Amino acid sequence: MLPRAGLAALCPLLRALRSAPGAAMSTGTFVVSQPLNFRGGARVQPADASGTEKAFEPATGRVIATFPCSGEKEVDLAVQDAKAAFKIWSKKSGLERAQILLEAARIIRARRDEIATVETINNGKSIFEARLDIDTAWQCLEYYAGVAGSLAGEHIQLPGGSFGYTRREPLGVCVGIGAWNYPFQIASWKSAPALACGNAMVFKPSPFTPVSTPLLAEVYVEAGAPPGLFNVVQGGAATGQFLCQHGDVAKVSFTGSVPTGTKIMEMAAQGIKPVTLELGGKSPLIVFADCDLENAVKGALMANFLTQGEVCCNGTRVFVQKEILNEFTEQVVKQTRKIKIGDPLLEGTRMGPLINRPHLERVLGFVKLAKEQGAKVLCGGDLYVPEDPKLKDGYFLSPCVLASCTDDMTCVKEEIFGPVLSILSFDTEAEVVERANNTSFGLAAGVFTRDLQRAHRVAAELQAGVCYVNNYNVSPVELPFGGYKKSGFGRENGRVTIEYYSQLKTVYVEMGDVDSAFESGP
Ligand code: NAD
Repeated sequence: MLPRAGLAALCPLLRALRSAPGAAMSTGTFVVSQPLNFRGGARVQPADASGTEKAFEPATGRVIATFPCSGEKEVDLAVQDAKAAFKIWSKKSGLERAQILLEAARIIRARRDEIATVETINNGKSIFEARLDIDTAWQCLEYYAGVAGSLAGEHIQLPGGSFGYTRREPLGVCVGIGAWNYPFQIASWKSAPALACGNAMVFKPSPFTPVSTPLLAEVYVEAGAPPGLFNVVQGGAATGQFLCQHGDVAKVSFTGSVPTGTKIMEMAAQGIKPVTLELGGKSPLIVFADCDLENAVKGALMANFLTQGEVCCNGTRVFVQKEILNEFTEQVVKQTRKIKIGDPLLEGTRMGPLINRPHLERVLGFVKLAKEQGAKVLCGGDLYVPEDPKLKDGYFLSPCVLASCTDDMTCVKEEIFGPVLSILSFDTEAEVVERANNTSFGLAAGVFTRDLQRAHRVAAELQAGVCYVNNYNVSPVELPFGGYKKSGFGRENGRVTIEYYSQLKTVYVEMGDVDSAFESGP
């Protein structure tokens, strides 16, 4: 591993971003000095603004960027740049697009540490995890580079020598709107399939995490993409609305909460625009008595504590069969207590701060309510103050395990989006499947068992877009990811996603005379 002081010498993007050239990249030093909008191949100040936002370093509570929220004019300029790039890009062959995506993947891979460092500083997740996020980003670009070259239609023979064929065509300018928990990953997961299919994109990250997406825009330009192919506008709800309502936008792909997803769908409906909605969840993780206990415990931690629990597909309702309830609970608490919290840029840290103070207060509120409703806090759920004085204003919370939970408690029904694991007990398979499905969400689900038939039977019964058997929260780019029910629709990753970023044209070719229903001649 590189020492962090040594990292600075190797990181051109970080050098460009830091206000104080030469300063060591460590927690408490980073300040953004460049514009965060990216349009027409370069960073730009927006042409107009609807207010300003501040981005924080959650580990210290410091402001690292104050930036204008793009107004209607800036959004329009970004869309027009994307339209111009689309004209060039959509005419390229799949192989030509693939070459640029592969080069972009290579650049991201080479800059893994510097991009991960920026992500950690702005989001708060540990550098260990941020690096893995960056890996899923370049892997996604590589995957869709492979897909781009094989995009094709069908030839269909018809009577009399006539025939038809289908063309898989791009949609045009696609909009991506992201959440704050996986900023670089979300932008990559949306842009890679969009660009592979021949579209251009305007992306709006969350105003909480504006810093890493312009790095992706720079990478695409460096890789040879036409200027304007991938643009970034910054801002909150108003900027997002300008994007969704823009007449030249062909599609909106959204990652965020159910209430915002509802608004996105309403706006898209006005323009009959297709949408992909990657929304929230309250996923079940079912642990049967015949499981491999050590793996099930590891799975429960993976299902709840990555990125401080701020993960859409987290298995936060942990149903444990009664025979192993005590042993499982004891082990989960033991392992949870070992999670190293602190400075997210340190190599050994596995849990950093939550995204911001209001969110920290919200999660604390859920823990308080859980206690009032009868849940037992077995560990964590408190503010955590690291010894390092520079972290004293950070938004740290100790990971929490709640026991004696019941299905009617708020902590079991609502998405907390923090490091809070709720343990529930069950007796039979039929009972637990019914309880697991008793939610309006349907993003993910997990089952731990050694019984092969039960594993597949339960996976088939669970109402969720992604089901994990004997693991949790692994998202290889080859596998489609997305929700059932209120967790959304459409998919990211996997080959199926090309259907969400392309449209099918049917071409009929007549090889004989027109067999008309109407009389011809004089
Ligand atoms: P959010 O809905 O508050 O915001 C998401 C994005 O939408 C932000 O960029 C925000 O600025 C923008 N936005 C807000 N109002 C808008 C409007 N009216 N029009 C257009 N854009 C608008 O969500 P969040 O707090 O950023 O993220 C947390 C949520 O995201 C959680 O519910 C989580 O489960 C979900 N999420 C889902 C996935 C998934 O793949 N299913 C992944 C990550 C996060």
